[in-house]
Amino acid sequence: MVKNYIFLGPPGVGKGTLASLIQEEKNIKHISTGEIFRNEMKKKTKLGLEVKAIIESGDYVPDNITNEIVKNVLNSDEVKKRGFILDGYPRTVNQAEFLKENKINLDGVILLDASDKVIMERLLGRGLGRADDDPKIISTRLDVYNKKTKPLINFYKAENLLVTINAEGTIEENYNRLIEAIN
Ligand code: AMP
Repeated sequence: MVKNYIFLGPPGVGKGTLASLIQEEKNIKHISTGEIFRNEMKKKTKLGLEVKAIIESGDYVPDNITNEIVKNVLNSDEVKKRGFILDGYPRTVNQAEFLKENKINLDGVILLDASDKVIMERLLGRGLGRADDDPKIISTRLDVYNKKTKPLINFYKAENLLVTINAEGTIEENYNRLIEAIN
């Protein structure tokens, strides 16, 4: 049976790192919308050029653009065969409703939880590998998360899909909690 998961949580909580570890361990396909956008930006495609200024400001790409991309990825044979971990999608209630309208089966929504203080320290410590990791942009990204993405916690609680994991530990500790939760 293929498994489909969503990893939810603030920027810098470790969604990407943990999703790629789970991909290695369980062969479930890791899908990061942020990574897809960064690749498009690097290749300077039409989409990449369209989203660059928005992403570098710390705001979200419009739902219609993001939904279309995710729909195409989820419809691929590879994802249907391997299952998926969506890392960084959905990020708005509109996106969550889009998954529901398209009857995408979900086995769990894992909330990786950490305080704002821990998040700030991690993001600042990550250094300037990404244009949106600039300290000024980080605080915008946290604000946007609190305003637009936090409502998904109650959305998925109501669907009985939410599992919360304390993600304030080391990568290894968090990974072990995660494995326990999905096994
Ligand atoms: P991430 O790598 O997940 O932190 O994403 C980096 C940036 O890409 C975000 O700050 C957004 O600007 C954009 N992005 C990624 N995923 C989404 C999404 N589901 N909806 C809107 N914007 C997104």
